[in-house]
Amino acid sequence: MKEVKTDIKSLNRDEIAAKFVELNEPAYRVDQLLNWLYVRRAPSWDAMTNLPKALRAKLAEVFTLNTHKISRKQGSRDTTQKFLWQLQDGALIESVLIPANPSLYGERSDRHTLCVSTQVGCAYGCKFCASGLEGWKRNLRPDEIVEQIIATERWHDDQPEEMEKVDGTLKADRMVNNLVIMGMGEPLSNYDNLLKALRLLNAPWGGGIGARKITISTSGLAPQIRKLADEPEQFRLAISLHGATDEVRSRIMPVNKKYPVAELAAACDYYQNRKSKMITLEYILIAGVNDMLSETKPLAALAKRLHAKVNLIPYNKVDGLEWVRPEEEAQEAFLAALEEQDVIATLRREKGHDIDAACGQLRLKTERELRPQNVE
Ligand code: SAH
Ligand code: SF4
Repeated sequence: MKEVKTDIKSLNRDEIAAKFVELNEPAYRVDQLLNWLYVRRAPSWDAMTNLPKALRAKLAEVFTLNTHKISRKQGSRDTTQKFLWQLQDGALIESVLIPANPSLYGERSDRHTLCVSTQVGCAYGCKFCASGLEGWKRNLRPDEIVEQIIATERWHDDQPEEMEKVDGTLKADRMVNNLVIMGMGEPLSNYDNLLKALRLLNAPWGGGIGARKITISTSGLAPQIRKLADEPEQFRLAISLHGATDEVRSRIMPVNKKYPVAELAAACDYYQNRKSKMITLEYILIAGVNDMLSETKPLAALAKRLHAKVNLIPYNKVDGLEWVRPEEEAQEAFLAALEEQDVIATLRREKGHDIDAACGQLRLKTERELRPQNVE
């Protein structure tokens, strides 16, 4: 049987250093290699010109260096960019690049957030979500998570005109400085690979992105939330709540049957007690499902108990699903009712709505287009 090689971007500094000792290579070569991977974003071994050819050949024998290929890209008017990546096995995943200050009027956008996927598809089957519609295919490996950031920056390096460079920075500087783990998949059900990837992205010799700049979003896997609370890093946590009572939540999120609101809230208490940052409760507003003003009461109570802020997100229509977003007045009324109850809340007046920004939608559309006609 063919031996499966490990990808170099799935390994941390210590693991690479141990391999270099085995290969009789001096330690400074490890830093040269890391520089090629995380700073210069080399697309191939051949690009690593200050490494001896013999070493490059040895590395190519032992490891893979996979890169994500752009299968499709959509850029919206406000410069949100959505990437559909094709992986080695043909699987499709998405990342979305969101500038903090869209350069609508030609000014620079100074911060970039990348929304990252952790699985191909999703097993949790939330009723409103495109990612779950085609089921779960597989977990992403650490390198497949890490490469989403590197490949996005590689793309950015090739766009001198289309997109402003971060003010005064060199080409080699990190462009993505915020991560939200809110792409396709349930991050906490791919726990070990996620944590490995986030540590590679957080390490000073790797991605160099601060843990406080990384937000993990979960549909509410209570045991893994507790586990994450016990990790040393100060990752931020967002909960896809979408309903503050079991009645509403179970209707749209099957995971609520396994971990009902009370159990989820207890896990959030545990997290909140161990970390310094506020938890965010994500709440998609869906007309007639969870946008009634009466729903603000249990939501406010929960937010206050958890010292959490609430992020209201108007629902993004998914082809083939019946749910609709409420009118703007209803969205604003929901926000105002929360604020009246002294809850810190924001309403996302959405960026990127015009490019199917909710993750999973570009993949779904592409897979449907590629599917042979008349075959069900
Ligand atoms: N599985 C994780 C992370 C990925 S989903 C989670 O559920 O938290 C990222 C966010 O997008 C979640 O809050 C999810 O509920 C939301 N979302 C999914 N479909 C959406 C849609 N059609 N419109 C708006 N938000 C959506
Ligand atoms: Fe999966 Fe999150 Fe979508 Fe639910 S909302 S199906 S957990 S990706």
